[in-house]
Amino acid sequence: MDASGDRAPNADGPLARASELVAASKRIVAFTGAGISAESGIPTYRDSDDSLWTQYDPDKFANIHYFMQDSSLYWRFFQDVRYQVMATAEPNPGHFALAQMERAGRLRALITQNIDGLHQKAGSEHVIELHGNTRSIRCLACGERYTMEVVYQQLQEELPPPCKACGGLLKPEVVFFGEALPANALNAAAEEASSCDLLISIGSSLQVYPAAALPEQAKARGARLIVVNKTPTPFDGIADVVLREASGSVLPVFAAEAERTSANGDAP
Ligand code: NAD
Repeated sequence: MDASGDRAPNADGPLARASELVAASKRIVAFTGAGISAESGIPTYRDSDDSLWTQYDPDKFANIHYFMQDSSLYWRFFQDVRYQVMATAEPNPGHFALAQMERAGRLRALITQNIDGLHQKAGSEHVIELHGNTRSIRCLACGERYTMEVVYQQLQEELPPPCKACGGLLKPEVVFFGEALPANALNAAAEEASSCDLLISIGSSLQVYPAAALPEQAKARGARLIVVNKTPTPFDGIADVVLREASGSVLPVFAAEAERTSANGDAP
């Protein structure tokens, strides 16, 4: 730690190598997964023994086939667990660091698999959401949209909650297992991954496709790859630097480096 409380990278360590890549890159893209929001209290799917996902199997509670058969299963989960977690979560230093890099003009795009809206809450503006956002709920029949707060109130009386306009089935604007990703978001993400010179993959197990293919795509087009993830990923072998650390402590170091290089006019 230095006097300001920021972490000082060991000159020869992987954090210093990663910081050098950040300093030397012109077109940086961040790719985030559930791990970046873990420090905000939102459980990930694949790495913890957290009781949430032992009680509620995500392959079942976020599966379009189960949902269409009986949406009350999902809505009960939303009422009992999901709403409270999403409504109270706040961005952590990892989210704020990415917003800071964008403001410094050093982050070209932020591609996220997360559905929690915490990047936007932290101040990031150019966010590509590959899996939608749980804060918005839409009627599958008439297209009417509701906030999650409105539907949560409705759930106290009706389960599953019908659309107030037409009585149709409501679904969060989240991509469930078994559904296609929004084409616009996927195309925009592929474009950013193909044209960046550094992709930083953060808090993703890189197991959910097609999103997980983006780091490989960037690498194939000549970009550098930094993986920040607490546990090993299938793409660690092709990464230029792997940091098995918490995103909330690593990303502020990158943000400080990005800000320092733009303030000095050293940014490439
Ligand atoms: P994942 O659960 O498969 O993997 C998360 C990874 O983050 C793990 O490998 C874990 O080791 C790592 N991790 C945990 N805490 C970390 C930290 N503090 N710093 C760095 N790494 C950390 O998540 P995924 O790859 O995003 O895929 C899961 C899918 O589930 C996504 O498609 C996403 O839509 C959805 N999901 C979203 C949220 C959310 O919006 N916050 C939460 C759970 C799941």
